[in-house]
Amino acid sequence: MPGKYIERSLIDFQKSFSDNESCAQHLVEQRWPDGFICPRCGHQEAWYLSKRRLFDCRSCRHQTSITAGTIFHKTRVPLLKWYWLIYHMAMDKVGVSVFEMQRLLGIGCYKTAWLMAHKVRKAMATRDERYSLAGLVEMDESFFGPAGTKRGRGSERKSVVLCAVSIYRNYKGEEKPGFAHMRIVNDASAETIEDFLERLGCGKKTQEGKQLLETIRSDGWRSYGRAAKDKNLSHCRIVLRDPKAAGRLMPWIHRIIANTKNVIRGAHRGVSEKHLQSYLSEIAYRFNRRFWEKELFDRLIHACVSSETITYEQLVHPNKNLTKLRS
Ligand SMILES: [Zn+2]
Repeated sequence: MPGKYIERSLIDFQKSFSDNESCAQHLVEQRWPDGFICPRCGHQEAWYLSKRRLFDCRSCRHQTSITAGTIFHKTRVPLLKWYWLIYHMAMDKVGVSVFEMQRLLGIGCYKTAWLMAHKVRKAMATRDERYSLAGLVEMDESFFGPAGTKRGRGSERKSVVLCAVSIYRNYKGEEKPGFAHMRIVNDASAETIEDFLERLGCGKKTQEGKQLLETIRSDGWRSYGRAAKDKNLSHCRIVLRDPKAAGRLMPWIHRIIANTKNVIRGAHRGVSEKHLQSYLSEIAYRFNRRFWEKELFDRLIHACVSSETITYEQLVHPNKNLTKLRS
C-alpha cells in the first residue's frame, strides 16, 4: 500500500517541503507507510541516522539507505531540488523544459538536470507498466520524427509508434477515454500489434472470467484485422474514406496522438528516437492520471520510490548493457 496521497497547491508544497530533511521524511513515509521494516530480517525497530539517511536495524544491525532501490539512489543532488523538479514534472500539463528546470533550481550542469528528468520518466513508465486496458480499445499507429521526412507505413526515417486508448461510456452514454499506452515499434505488422496487445493485457481475465480486453477499433489497415483474429478479439473496423474523418470517427486516439506531438514539439523541442519512448511514457502517465490532478505530486513521488534508478550509461547506451548480459 502506498502512503497517503495528499492534494497540494504550490503554497502547500512550499510549506511542506522547506528543506532536505522534510523531503527525506516524506520519502520515508511514502516508502514505508506502515513504518520501517528491515529488508534483511523483517524487524520493525531501527535507529534512524539522519545525517547519513540510514536505518540501522536494532536486531541484525543491517543498514538500509532510505534511497536505495529508488530513483534517488546515490544522488548527489539535494532532495529538495529533486522534490521541486518532481513537483513541476507532475503538475505541468505540457511537460517541463529541462533547461528551464536547471536554471530555476540552480542545478550545476545540464546533463545532471537531464538525467534527473529521465529518472523520473523511468519511474512513470515503470508505474504504468502495471496497468492493463479493458473493454473496447481504440488503436492506431503514428509516425514521429523530424518535419519533412518521409511518412506513411514502411517509412524508414520516422519512428513508428503504436497508440492505444481504452474507451468507456459515461452515465450519459458518451464515449470517454480511459487509459492510454504508446510504444515505439519496428513496424505495424500483425505480429507487432499482437505483441503490443499482450502488453496491454490482452488474454487476461476479469474476476468474472470474462476477457479483459474484448474489442479493438482501428482503421482498415489489415494488420489490425489479423491481430484481432489471432487474439480472439472482436474487431470494429472504421473505414476512413476521407482521412479528415479520422478525428471524428476515432476522436480519442487522434486527440492523444495530436496532443503528444504538440508536447514533444513544444516543451521538448523535438526528441531523438533513442529517448522518444521515455517522453511517450511521460505523456501517457500524465494523461492516465488527469483526474487526480492535485494528488499527482504524491503519486509521482510514490512511483519514484518504488522504481529502481537508471544510470547515465544505461540511458545513453541501452543496448550495450544488454549485450554484456547476453555474452
Ligand atoms: Zn534487520
